[in-house]
Formats: sequence, structure tokens, C-alpha cells
Amino acid sequence: CGKLYICPTPIGNLEDITLRVLRILKEVDLIAAEDTRHTIKLLNHYDIQKPLTSYHEHNRESKGKVLLEKLMAGENIALVSDAGMPGISDPGSDLVKLCVENHIDIEVLPGAAAFVTALVASGLPTDKFSFEGFLDRDKKKRKKRLEEIKGEDRTLIFYEAPHRICTTLQDIVKVLGNRQAVLARELTKKHEEFLRGSLEELEAHFEQREPKGEMVLMISGAAPEDRLQEISSWESLSIEAHLTQ
Ligand code: SAM
Repeated sequence: CGKLYICPTPIGNLEDITLRVLRILKEVDLIAAEDTRHTIKLLNHYDIQKPLTSYHEHNRESKGKVLLEKLMAGENIALVSDAGMPGISDPGSDLVKLCVENHIDIEVLPGAAAFVTALVASGLPTDKFSFEGFLDRDKKKRKKRLEEIKGEDRTLIFYEAPHRICTTLQDIVKVLGNRQAVLARELTKKHEEFLRGSLEELEAHFEQREPKGEMVLMISGAAPEDRLQEISSWESLSIEAHLTQ
């Protein structure tokens, strides 16, 4: 049997790819990519010529079976997503499950993931955190999930699209209250930015300025009584724009 290599790619800055990922991309028989048009740019940048096939949200069942057959026939396949670590909030985890069930070897190469990069820069506690990914688009389901995590004392991490961030901030405030939050935008890109303040301040900011770009929202966990003062001392919006190197 062949092997499935999980290959993380940059979340913005093209330099954020490891030497091992580049070597494996050069060595495998086939690269399965979430969006082949997107991945081809990365491959061209590093002068890698390899057969590419698509594996995404809408073909994961049928293409999963095709990839499994190829692996069973001895091909080595690299899985890449549009950005970051395949399997984190993208269909990669389904392919991994299929391979585990069929005893196919999997090798995960370490690399960029947006939530880790955001969390480390947030200034919120990193010792314990809960990665929530995208909240469900369905109003009822997202409210139910927010009710479930209302008492969670670990730092909460969400992925969100710019056109939904205002609604999401409002929904979170309604259930969790106006907590301290950090929004990391366009990580590792030219206009990287960190917004630190209360959830309501972030919402007010985006009402003034149209939300754009990719974003990770982090919220402090439910605070025990003795931490409330510490939290309130953070409350005034600060915006840090970074010139990334
Ligand atoms: N697999 C990816 C990872 O390892 O982070 C995540 C894929 S998910 C489909 C895409 C989401 O990740 C975006 O909507 C955004 O919330 C977050 N994201 C990806 N790149 C980012 C960046 N450069 N800055 C901020 N958030 C980012």
C-alpha cells in the first residue's frame, strides 16, 4: 500500500512551508488539493510539477473512494488544503478517517494552522483552550452550541467569514455576555491585524468599517468571580496592525 501524507501549506506568507513538506510534494505520485487552481500557484512558486486532483467538500465521498483505491494500489498521495493544516475545519479529516478504517499509513507533517498562530499572539490564556471552528450557519444550532459552551472556562476559538462576523459577534454576546475578545485578521499577510477589546467593541468597530479578510475570533473563557476585575481592565479597543516580515 501507499501512504497518505498530510501536508500543511502557508496561511498567507508563501515562505511558511517546511522543507519536508516541499520534499514530500516533490516525491509523491499525486497531490490531492482542496482547490487545484489555488494549489497550482504554490507549486509553481516552488517549481514543483506533479499531477493534481481535487478533493473538496462537494466530492469528498466519491473522490475519497478513488484516492483510497490509488493508495491501496501503492500510490503515495499528498493531501493539501487551501491554507494551513488539512483536516482542521476542512474535509481532510474525512479522508484521514477513511484511511484509518482501511489500514492505510498516514503521515502528518507539522506546519501552519491559523488557530494556533492566532492564539499564541492573543494574550489570552493558552494553557487550555477549546477550538470551536465555524459555528453552524443555522440560527438554532449555533444558539444551542453557544448555550453548551457558555460555562466553558477555557479560551474559546472560532473561525468566521467576514460577511458573517457581525451576526456572530451579536449571537455570542447574547448568550455568553460581553466578554473580552481578540480578533486576528489576515495572519502572516501584508495587512495582518489584531483587534483587542470587548465583543461589543469589536462589533461596533465592524459597523464602522466593513469586515474584510480571513479571521480568527478568540474569546476569554467563562471567568470565575476573582478574575472579573482583571478582565474589565482590558476593556477598550486596541488595534495593532503588523508589518509582517
Ligand atoms: N485548515 C486551515 C487551518 O489550518 O487553519 C483552516 C481552514 S478553514 C476552511 C479557513 C478559515 O481559517 C478562515 O475562514 C479563517 O477563519 C481561518 N484562517 C485561515 N487563514 C487565515 C489567516 N491568514 N488569518 C486569519 N484566519 C485565517
